Amino acid sequence: MEYRTDAPAISADSLDLLAEGVVVVAGDGSVLAANRAFCGLLGLSVDDVVGRSAFEPPWRFESSTRGLLDPAETSLVMALAGDSSPEQLLLMHGSSTPRWVKVRVAGEASRPGGVMMAVEDQSELFSAQQHLHLAVQSDPLTSLCTREHIIKVLEAALARAEDTGDRVGVLQVDLDGFRAINDAFGPEVGDAVLVEVADRLRRHCADLAAVGRVGVDEFLVVSSADSSGLAFDTTIRHLADGLRSAITEPVHHDGLELHLTASLGAARGPDDASSATALIAAADRAVRASRQIGRNQFQFHDSTIDIRNHDRLKLDRDLRQATARRELEVHYQPIVELCTGRPAGAEALVRWHHDQHGPIPPSEFIPTAETTGSISAISEFVLGTVADDLARWDSLGVTTPDMRVSVNISAAEFNRPDFVSRFERVLHSTGTDPSRLELEITESLLVDDLGAAARRLHQLEDLGLRTAIDDFGTGYSSLSYLHELPLHTLKIDRSFLGDLTGVDDDRRSGAITRTIISLARNLGVTAVAEGVENSHQLSFLNESGCQRAQGYLFAPALPAEPFARFMQAQFSPTAA
Ligand code: C2E
Ligand code: CA
Ligand code: CA
Repeated sequence: MEYRTDAPAISADSLDLLAEGVVVVAGDGSVLAANRAFCGLLGLSVDDVVGRSAFEPPWRFESSTRGLLDPAETSLVMALAGDSSPEQLLLMHGSSTPRWVKVRVAGEASRPGGVMMAVEDQSELFSAQQHLHLAVQSDPLTSLCTREHIIKVLEAALARAEDTGDRVGVLQVDLDGFRAINDAFGPEVGDAVLVEVADRLRRHCADLAAVGRVGVDEFLVVSSADSSGLAFDTTIRHLADGLRSAITEPVHHDGLELHLTASLGAARGPDDASSATALIAAADRAVRASRQIGRNQFQFHDSTIDIRNHDRLKLDRDLRQATARRELEVHYQPIVELCTGRPAGAEALVRWHHDQHGPIPPSEFIPTAETTGSISAISEFVLGTVADDLARWDSLGVTTPDMRVSVNISAAEFNRPDFVSRFERVLHSTGTDPSRLELEITESLLVDDLGAAARRLHQLEDLGLRTAIDDFGTGYSSLSYLHELPLHTLKIDRSFLGDLTGVDDDRRSGAITRTIISLARNLGVTAVAEGVENSHQLSFLNESGCQRAQGYLFAPALPAEPFARFMQAQFSPTAA
């Protein structure tokens, strides 16, 4: 704008006509004029502003990139807007709520009339933008985080974990058979189901974890925890079990009662992968692996899933040939009666010596065998070997007829409709006396479908078999029904035994161990503690009234011959 030199000077009052805030600052930094709109934005009177030094103004500007600006910069108006983009919004602080403003500047500090600064309130626009931003962050149907946003949450958690050494768990939750619900009852019911499931996940995760919706019926949960190793896995497993239970509660909608289940998979950062996308991909592979076992299952990602995906057929072929090539072997870990200190039984643990890769631990090949179905062949091999070994030991006088061998039964096997009849056939063909066996099944089987598990357990009891719940205490099962099941043994998961050095974690584990021991006593079943490695743990178990234990303190799992020698030594007259 050009001034005609003979034009009347613009009075300060006339600035009040402008809706924009205007302030005029002289070269020495004093505020020459400010209009009502400007003072209104600050929540200050004209007297509070005009005549004061702009080097100590009652207002401040904050830039989103540079933080609170120095008052000297504020007064040197050029610094405010001159060197920044005119479109940049600044947050202006006065005595009322800060306002988002756009600042434009006219003139130079050296000019006698001073510098004029026009300040436009953009707060409403800004909050609309913020809303939009939030809308991008949250899924319109469920209000959970969107995929993009939960990835950001995960990236932030991973970045924090890198500094603190914490671990980050990513759980993927996929509803089983959601499409069937949508097809049968229509998308309105489908949407209601998704909203309900989202609410349950959100409520369950509360401050434990962040939840996002990443597909039609797929959710992602991000959890950070400072626990390490086994404790971290237990935390994630508990979270997964809690989420599964939350989902299996019936959903009521419009007179319908719907029963849902979900398949869950988890990956741990940085162990399984260090980037957000790689971790999510790992959790996704874990979900697919759990789907292969059946509905309502949970699996951690493990490297064998990758082997399974890349090299699955090869591994499976190797596994099937392993029995024929005698690469599979059964080792026996003694289970000791604590009051006598003598072995009362043994757990059969399978071993695989791969001709190229050397020994492969069961934790690596059992999950593969479960998905490909070769687990049944492994079980048959284990049962056949146990029958042969028992017969040989009995004839050598190493074992007595009351000595039992525990064999592990995978969930994938136990869940098959023909499990009991197949098992009966195997008992028959191997000539195994069922009273010499105890079957170890995991607690999660009771959580998933209690009715089916109970029926099967009764059928097994009818065959003369005993059953043990393995890894007890990790599965979050409800205890109320335990007395109705034909169980004989509770095996206390070895994660509870810890070091028992009296630190907080150990105290908690100690309390859990004691609770399981007294629970077993009340149920009239045997408590077996797993993973006993030191005398601390042993005396704790003795004091707590635990009946049996196994662990490296007594013996690791031994091949059949060394096991026989171990037994002989225990029962020879010179043994204590
Ligand atoms: P599990 O049934 O919980 O078996 C106990 C595991 O703890 C065994 O690992 C055993 O070697 C280990 N262990 C024993 N004492 C100690 C100890 O004092 N400290 C520690 N840290 N560990 C101890 P393993 O042999 O590697 O077996 C791992 C899992 O593989 C088993 O866990 C079981 O779930 C599965 N498995 C093993 N053999 C078979 C089988 O024949 N069939 C099926 N379905 N699963 C099997
Ligand atoms: Ca076991
Ligand atoms: Ca166990």
